[in-house]
Amino acid sequence: MTDRRIGAFICGCGGNISDYVDIEKVRDEVEKEPGVVVARTAMFTCSDATQREIIDIIREQELDGIVVASCSPKLHLNTFRAMARRAGLNQYVYNQVNIREQCSWTHTHDMEHATDKAIRLIRAGIARTLMGHPLEMIRVKTIPRVLIIGAGISGLQAARLLSTMGIEVHLVESAPEVGGQVASWGPLFPSGRSGKELVQTLTSMIEKDDRIHIHTSSQVVEKTGNVGEFDISIQSSDGKRTSIKAGAIIVATGFQRYKPPQGEFGYGLPGVLTLDEFRDVLDNSDSGSIRYNGRDIKNISYIYCVGSRQGSNDEGSHSYCSRYCCTAAVHTALLAGEKQNPLHQYHLFRDMRTYGKQELLYEEALQKGSLFLKFPDEEPPSVKASNGHLEVALKDQLTGGEEINIGSDLVVLVTGMEARPNRELIDVLKLPVGKDGFFNEIHCKLRPVETVMDGILIAGSAQGPKNVHESTISSMAAVAKSAGLLMKGYVDLEPFVAVVDPDLCEWCDDCSNACPYDAIGKIEKGGKAIAQVTTAICKGCGTCVPACEKLAINVEGYTHKQITNMIDALAKEVV
Ligand code: SF4
Ligand code: SF4
Repeated sequence: MTDRRIGAFICGCGGNISDYVDIEKVRDEVEKEPGVVVARTAMFTCSDATQREIIDIIREQELDGIVVASCSPKLHLNTFRAMARRAGLNQYVYNQVNIREQCSWTHTHDMEHATDKAIRLIRAGIARTLMGHPLEMIRVKTIPRVLIIGAGISGLQAARLLSTMGIEVHLVESAPEVGGQVASWGPLFPSGRSGKELVQTLTSMIEKDDRIHIHTSSQVVEKTGNVGEFDISIQSSDGKRTSIKAGAIIVATGFQRYKPPQGEFGYGLPGVLTLDEFRDVLDNSDSGSIRYNGRDIKNISYIYCVGSRQGSNDEGSHSYCSRYCCTAAVHTALLAGEKQNPLHQYHLFRDMRTYGKQELLYEEALQKGSLFLKFPDEEPPSVKASNGHLEVALKDQLTGGEEINIGSDLVVLVTGMEARPNRELIDVLKLPVGKDGFFNEIHCKLRPVETVMDGILIAGSAQGPKNVHESTISSMAAVAKSAGLLMKGYVDLEPFVAVVDPDLCEWCDDCSNACPYDAIGKIEKGGKAIAQVTTAICKGCGTCVPACEKLAINVEGYTHKQITNMIDALAKEVV
């Protein structure tokens, strides 16, 4: 017997559920469950009218727990949490059971069994609610200071924007100068401003800004604490350590350029250059001629996708598209054409990915005489030196696979981006990286600059290949997120965290060894050592729970009692 008063509300979702699940039968069955005092069906539970009805029922029946069986909690968890609050209930005594995506939509062919499954799923939700109790969000105070790691274009932009919001910034850069790779770049599309000029403008603003503290030739070597109050140790190249407290961290460590091994598309032969090396040649050539090794350059072949879209990420090659390089090559060809005319330029590509406004550059290059030839994915071009000249051979798909040889004075390898070797930083911050080595966001569309570590954000090409414009946009997103965390002075976190029973715990250390987030430490309590969870770090992942033989550690909202009760409810036959 139980004195709990639970309401179960079953949604038909306008036929999405009720066409495949007999929701009246479901209601009749779940009404018999222990603790359930009211069970209702509705056409649209999320509608304002139904929410108002449920609120009335909660108050009239003095409910102390509710279960809504409807769509995925991803869609309406917050809707029904807000409804529970409006009814005066603790929002965590509400549980949502997904009988749409996980039941009606997956069993459209079998109403009888879909109905049985819905009954079992809702019984489990009721069983969880029965053993649950009200919870409160965990409030953590936040320090209005951000640590930015990496002072390239993304880090500089982020620092400047945060400062304009009144937030103090510490900017840590491993190189002796700020500016990163863009500081050495020439004209950029679409502004035409040089990368050097762009970085100089930003740097001069930042150097005058009292709210921004720059630490060059420095690395982050230690991090403790949690969102709102990280303790960070920075070490400079002379071994000096500085401690900083910050509420949030933005990782903007950028990328490194792919360096072809000797022999890849003739790399190492005189006249075979990477795109960056060719940009240096262009920058150092006088107007009216492009010269290399004392010779005038009349014919250039560009080979695209070098180091990108090849093999798998495991083998040191990169299967991803580096995104910026098609545009960079076309842009470079236009700049080269301005230096010297006539100039024959051949672009050997797999697919042209000059997306968005960058398509205009591609069109301009076509109009100005660049020739584009498409080689098959599995048959890349070959490059060989012959009588002091370079010869590039390919099968051109645009002319039905015709074999073409192009005599070239220069071969430019359009190389992509790769992740920087950030091993130490990854270990210090405990951030996940993808197979490609770039830092991982939580969701590329829904949470594009957040990481699994609360308060640690990523910006720019540390996250994956991006051009300058895209890097700037992502640093603005990281700024908005970090400012959103810090400007209120506190942040509220979900209460589904691990808790230790001090009576059962004997500090064997197993849970702390299992925790991937370093959320568990040791404390003395009642004359013995026990485990203690730092709730602001705990992600509620549950990894520590099965590690504890004493069953002394539980995750709130998913306790041992709740889970065993749910399993029993799921296993109970439907008659
Ligand atoms: Fe305590 Fe269990 Fe952790 Fe061991 S595993 S320290 S007994 S909570
Ligand atoms: Fe660590 Fe996960 Fe346990 Fe929290 S629930 S203490 S993050 S293992």
